[in-house]
Amino acid sequence: MADATAVGHRFDPTILREYDIRGVIGETLHEADAKALGRSFAVVLREAGGKSIAVGRDGRLSSPAIEKALVEGLRDSGINVVRVGLGPTPMLYYAVNTLGVDAGIMVTGSHNPPTHNGFKLMLGKKPFFAADIQRLGKIAAAGDFPSGKGSVREQHVLDAYVDRLLKDYDGARPLHVAWDAGNGATGEALQKLAAKLPGKHLLLNEKIDGNFPAHHPDPTETKNLVQLQEAVRKNGCDFGVAFDGDGDRIGLVDGQGRILWGDQFMVLMARDVVRNQPGATIIADVKASQVLFDEVARMGGTPLMWRTGHSLIKSKMAETHAPLAGEMSGHIFFADRYYGYDDALYAGVRVLGILARGTTSLADFRDSLPAVVNTPELRFPCAEDRKFKVVEEVRARLEQAGASVSAIDGVRVKTKDGWWLLRASNTQDVLVARAEAGDGAGLETLKKLLSDQLRASGVTPPAF
Ligand SMILES: [Zn+2]
Repeated sequence: MADATAVGHRFDPTILREYDIRGVIGETLHEADAKALGRSFAVVLREAGGKSIAVGRDGRLSSPAIEKALVEGLRDSGINVVRVGLGPTPMLYYAVNTLGVDAGIMVTGSHNPPTHNGFKLMLGKKPFFAADIQRLGKIAAAGDFPSGKGSVREQHVLDAYVDRLLKDYDGARPLHVAWDAGNGATGEALQKLAAKLPGKHLLLNEKIDGNFPAHHPDPTETKNLVQLQEAVRKNGCDFGVAFDGDGDRIGLVDGQGRILWGDQFMVLMARDVVRNQPGATIIADVKASQVLFDEVARMGGTPLMWRTGHSLIKSKMAETHAPLAGEMSGHIFFADRYYGYDDALYAGVRVLGILARGTTSLADFRDSLPAVVNTPELRFPCAEDRKFKVVEEVRARLEQAGASVSAIDGVRVKTKDGWWLLRASNTQDVLVARAEAGDGAGLETLKKLLSDQLRASGVTPPAF
């Protein structure tokens, strides 16, 4: 039955994004939006035959109020809500996979500044994204919400979640590890986890604090790893682990304090998975090093390159039954012995297990990887109405010239020197590029090819 008193609600158009909903509190995102989101998502959930949902929240200052408004919206549309409280995003995913609910919403601004907040959504056990998120805007604008009175109950899942993480620890000797929670939502779970893991554990910024006083909780930026690198070196730790603000992305530092990027530590994880599942499909995004794809093939796995975006990777993983997938950005998805969602704490436990079972250090592993020279991920501005067209133009010119081009996501071009990538971001008005070669001279050649293509489409190349 429609609620006759309901009126349509308009979200700020910038908050409905490709993979999540995200805005600035008091500017583009208000409690009224959270409530309208609850009422709109209820329409989708009821359509799908569902009636219950788990809701969690991160440690941001605005999260309690946003969560409360969201729960009210869901309840007022007849949805039964299980509130799992404060914790990392993967704890919410765990709740959805184990509590028998029909959906999940996490209130989180992930790694973004303290003034930001937002939502990650699941329908069933699948990510809810792209056109589905856009449709929520239309449902809200129509205002034709179902009415009803759902139930609301609280359920503590943090301890069960931590116990589940511990269950897959398979190390044999104690190691000394530094962990940096970046004052994000992983803090409490990390303290409980570290207290039960064998070995010696040094915790940094484990107090949940929505002001993020130590540094930004984003381990893909080198400046945010400096504190962890120093702690590892100073304390002689075997390695260091960092989490992003909501615990779905991981960063690693070896015993010498050197950073390993997502496409490097994926090799370590893939080896562990393929050893038990020969031939297994291992998915990585188009930004990843060729070393990762080559190493997976060499160890007897089946490498699969896929589009960048955690929701896209998760969907591809479900489709191909791949036991492991990962992104350069540090989203790591284990379906091997686990649920297949991106859980940085779980990935940390598995890495600890691998290193504490073997005799090779993370530093030795890093040094054993084939040497390549590559650029980091380069992001540079391009007008919204041009970004996809530029990539199309580059692809057309390359194909006409007979180049070896993969068009999975943008263009990834193979040459005798290595490869280079150009793709349009789905979430920002930027183009993303990366290049990798066997040596410095090769990399310069690739950079020139990329720059020439950008100029031919009227785009100023990045300074690299
Ligand atoms: Zn995150």
